Amino acid sequence: MKGKEERRLRIVTIDGPAGSGKSTVARAVAARTGLRYLDTGLLYRAIALFLSRKGIPPTEKDSLRTALEDLQLTLEGDRVRIGAEDVSEALRTPEIDRIVSLYAALPSVRKRLLHLQQSQAVLPGLVADGRDMGSVVFPEAGLKIFLTAGAEERARRRFLEQSSKGEKVLFEQVLSDVLSRDETDSTREIAPLSVPKNAIVVDTTEKTVEQVVIEILRLIDRTFGENGSGVAGGAL
Ligand code: C5P
Repeated sequence: MKGKEERRLRIVTIDGPAGSGKSTVARAVAARTGLRYLDTGLLYRAIALFLSRKGIPPTEKDSLRTALEDLQLTLEGDRVRIGAEDVSEALRTPEIDRIVSLYAALPSVRKRLLHLQQSQAVLPGLVADGRDMGSVVFPEAGLKIFLTAGAEERARRRFLEQSSKGEKVLFEQVLSDVLSRDETDSTREIAPLSVPKNAIVVDTTEKTVEQVVIEILRLIDRTFGENGSGVAGGAL
């Protein structure tokens, strides 16, 4: 392939806790830059659905490892399939919210998804959202962002999202789910949620989606633009 622009793989990672706005922001940034969008939370959610349907508890055992060997997981855009079944609509539910972190903490679950995630990095590049994108899956990414927001604000966003889908949820329950997911994700031994080295932290508590998207588009220009070095780091 010819041309400097075309040859250069642009990887932007967006990590952060539940409700920090990662998927909304990452999706918008991908759409406006022409980069592919990778929502890795969906993959962990699909594994949690698959294993829980089989009645396999979130513990590192042979039964779990064998089930993972049988799992046929495919990702096309933001549609996820288990075997021939498109499970995309069944993944963002309060039930999966409650169990996903328990499965995501297991080494064999994380190992099962590593290659699938890395194989999505094709030209012109991607915006990858998750918990360990900048630290483990794409440590060489040109731009690493860590999105954060206060816990109450994050719970408020999740509450509005779930209520708007017609789900009957209590704010206190959503807040407690968000806090316990943060705790499990940040304290697990393998690939815990943390600010990756050289990441730029963006606090979204008092910002609109559009403000955050513009901030990240500027960082992308600065990092990958004609004169950009492609190396993450620096203040806003
Ligand atoms: O981003 P989302 O809320 O869909 O992620 C669901 C869960 O999947 C997270 O709470 C976390 O336990 C797990 N996850 C992860 N690593 C990622 C993405 C998601 O452990 N890269």
